[in-house]
Amino acid sequence: NENKIRELEKLAVVGELAAGIAHEIRNPLTSIIGFTQIISEKIDDATIHEYLGIMMRELDRINSIVNEFMFIAKPDETMKVSTNHINELIIHVIKFMEPQSNLKGIRIIFESQAEAITAICDHNLLKQVLINLIQNSIEATDENGEEIKITLERVSADQYAIHIRDKGTGMTSDRQQRLFEPFYTTKEKGTGLGLMICRRIIELHQGTIEFKSALGAGTEAAIRLPIKIESCE
Ligand code: ADP
Ligand code: MG
Repeated sequence: NENKIRELEKLAVVGELAAGIAHEIRNPLTSIIGFTQIISEKIDDATIHEYLGIMMRELDRINSIVNEFMFIAKPDETMKVSTNHINELIIHVIKFMEPQSNLKGIRIIFESQAEAITAICDHNLLKQVLINLIQNSIEATDENGEEIKITLERVSADQYAIHIRDKGTGMTSDRQQRLFEPFYTTKEKGTGLGLMICRRIIELHQGTIEFKSALGAGTEAAIRLPIKIESCE
């Protein structure tokens, strides 16, 4: 279908660009961030200090975009699998996201079945997926104290599922079809790379990710992953 082709074409272009550009930008960027930090520690002037703070925040933003590009360029090389407690991993991510959700009065609730789930995964990459999804949910939710609910369950002897549900803006089916397209964003400061990267990571783990959403009602992301990953070469 047409969307799929457009997506693949963009991805090929993005991949090539990413490999070259991200690499070239990374080293100079690291040194700019380092020196900006040092200058800001030495400066007392309040106004300049404020400007340097803004610079640091914007540099952080460039840094995370560059990191996203690096991942597009070489996704499998960065994959390191080990055995992980998925319950703990989710709790860890929630703790990490709470300062941000608290700012909007949003509660993140975790419900898991009694039995703990242990599975093989790259814990950094899986955390990245959960952070991206929770971030999107926070961004889609009004400051009205609504909840974001995360559930973890075992679906069979060799599979488990993670669901992330928000009561945010939701999406039209049009928008849902374009979710995983690189650079597809409806946000002023979005990169449109988050969900594309989520899907790449989940596919590397031999799992699936699907969305259900209704405009005005909210969105649910459903991830299904194997407990064990077949031969990772
Ligand atoms: P970004 O967050 O940088 O815009 P993403 O790839 O993470 O890029 O998301 C792409 C688009 O999908 C978002 O701009 C938004 O329109 C839509 N989207 C993703 N998650 C949600 C959600 N939970 N609720 C509503 N819209 C969403
Ligand atoms: Mg996002």
